[in-house]
Amino acid sequence: MLELYLKHPNDEYLNHNNETDKQIAWTLAVVLRQALADCLGIACDELGFTVKPTTLPDCSLSVAAIVIYDVCSGGGGFSCAAPSFFIDMFAKAQGYLHCSCTGVCQNCLLGFDTRFCLQHLNRQAAEQFLQS
Ligand SMILES: [Zn+2]
Repeated sequence: MLELYLKHPNDEYLNHNNETDKQIAWTLAVVLRQALADCLGIACDELGFTVKPTTLPDCSLSVAAIVIYDVCSGGGGFSCAAPSFFIDMFAKAQGYLHCSCTGVCQNCLLGFDTRFCLQHLNRQAAEQFLQS
């Protein structure tokens, strides 16, 4: 399982109690899952994703942690391989977020299992976050 805690340029973590921050985390979970699957040459449904509130020792707020995990029982070791691909993953993620649609579409975020978290997705906010 991979857990990511991302920060804004002002050094603050994504806040799980802030609606926009939570949307950024969910949207990045979707595209980073896709990016990791591409890096590993596997189907993206081999990996699951979610966002959960967590606390960190150096931080008072509820941090929105991005979680990517192996779907198959026992784990395929896919999510643990992520750190070797971080640079590539974030570059690909930015590519997926760059779309001409106004919300979400099948060319960017809409997929079989992402339609269950559509209300959490905000492509523009996530793209701005990565650019910052
Ligand atoms: Zn789109």
